[in-house]
Amino acid sequence: FFDSVELGPPIEVFQLTKQYTEDDFPQKVNLGVGAYRTDDGKPWVLPVVRTAEKALANDDSLNKEYLPVLGLDLFSVLSTKMLLGSDSVPLAENRAFGVQVLSGTGALRVGAEFLAKRLGKTVFYFSKPTWENHRLVFLNAGFQEAREYRYWHEANRALDLEGFLEDLNNAPEGAVVILHACAHNPTGCDPTQEQWGQIAKVVKERKLFPFFDSAYQGFASGDLNKDAWAVRFFVNQGFEIFCAQSYAKNFGLYNERTGNLVVVSNNLANVAAVKSQITLIIRGNYSNPPSHGARIVAYVLSNKELNDQWGENIKTMSSRIIQMRKRLREELEALGTPGSWNHITDQIGMFSYTGLNEAQSLHMVQKHHIYMLKSGRISMCGITPNNVQYVAKSIHETLTS
Ligand code: PMP
Repeated sequence: FFDSVELGPPIEVFQLTKQYTEDDFPQKVNLGVGAYRTDDGKPWVLPVVRTAEKALANDDSLNKEYLPVLGLDLFSVLSTKMLLGSDSVPLAENRAFGVQVLSGTGALRVGAEFLAKRLGKTVFYFSKPTWENHRLVFLNAGFQEAREYRYWHEANRALDLEGFLEDLNNAPEGAVVILHACAHNPTGCDPTQEQWGQIAKVVKERKLFPFFDSAYQGFASGDLNKDAWAVRFFVNQGFEIFCAQSYAKNFGLYNERTGNLVVVSNNLANVAAVKSQITLIIRGNYSNPPSHGARIVAYVLSNKELNDQWGENIKTMSSRIIQMRKRLREELEALGTPGSWNHITDQIGMFSYTGLNEAQSLHMVQKHHIYMLKSGRISMCGITPNNVQYVAKSIHETLTS
């Protein structure tokens, strides 16, 4: 049966983690995967998550029965409110809702499948570059054509707004456009509010469908409301949207697969039908979601004190990242490493596009045991006070050897 099956390409980021784990070099550094590390380079379970887990473990009223197909209602309600804001008009009018799904990827997949199979969408746009999974998720969900819009201007190391707008202007009416809500992966470069205004104008003119991807709320600025600005702006402009919300990074619930697909409709009369079709898509996919992560998020978001603690935990992560951006730039400038390094501190969120090319990035892995993507993307979460000098020296050696 399997004779015709060809070997698929490896998934770069998982392959890097495997190589890193098997490497016994003492100063090795994993800058591939976007996962926060303590100053000692260890994974971090947020203290507020530990607190919630202990409370949940002691709650005998909880059991292991199936959740409904659309998951834990309280989780989705609180999560949707966190994205759209407590004063959201579509929420008040019951035109917006969320469904619990398998993290950000699951939200993208379920949303994309709905758009392809129920609305007959065929073309989708993603930023060049983008998170490498957007393409596969949308194609697997039934889309036929993946197209890029220009986003990153190599020479300027900044947003290519002109290219972005021009590509959207040439998009066929009704195409789906994936927009990063904040902390763009991999460039760490977001449009300004004024630029979002220009983007929204073209999206409206071309009648495109905005599908936001919000994997880093809280990580761009440390403030949940500020990081939801673009999504709320589109909603306030009257757009109907989808938004994929992930709790992998901001709650550190990577392997719990906790996410929410938010739907904003302009017509209350359509909400029940849309919800019922999403229910069927999930039912035919994985039937219903796991509960652990969603219970943790719901527990924290519904408790003022724990919510504040969570805010502190996010600040711990985001401020360390900002501090490490500063340190890395300072170290490189002190070493006199060729090139300008202001982009390291200009960029935001978990990732930085260093400007290292493929050969240089491979050299970093092979010679210095610093695991990073071929594109030159590094995860700032993997840089700590203990390894920042080593990373800077290695970049310096790579660019001067
Ligand atoms: N979108 C973007 C832009 C991401 O960076 C990620 C995580 N790397 C995701 C979605 C989805 O992550 P998850 O499925 O783990 O929530």
